[in-house]
Amino acid sequence: MNWTSETIETLKTLWQAGHSASAIAGKLGGLSRNAVIGKAHRLGLAARPSPIKHRPVIRVERLSGRGCVWPLGDPGDADFHYCGAKAEPSRPYCAPHCAIAYRRRDRDAA
Ligand SMILES: [Zn+2]
Repeated sequence: MNWTSETIETLKTLWQAGHSASAIAGKLGGLSRNAVIGKAHRLGLAARPSPIKHRPVIRVERLSGRGCVWPLGDPGDADFHYCGAKAEPSRPYCAPHCAIAYRRRDRDAA
């Protein structure tokens, strides 16, 4: 399709109003989304604020907030408690207790 001053004005108006390129293409008719983007770029309209991208939030607190649950002492004793040290990622225990747990599991499996 040929760009007329009328369609260019429509493009400019819709573009600056924040319509998507595909929506503008649909309104103008006979145009692809890429044609609209290309024309807008040539008209100097491309500098539109892009939507804010959400940066992924690293959820450190999920790991650091959870301590090692290795039981220490007898559950009936007053001083019974869990280790509480920083647990290994995706493990319920801290590194030393992981070593014990998995060594024990290996021995049981053998
Ligand atoms: Zn521990």
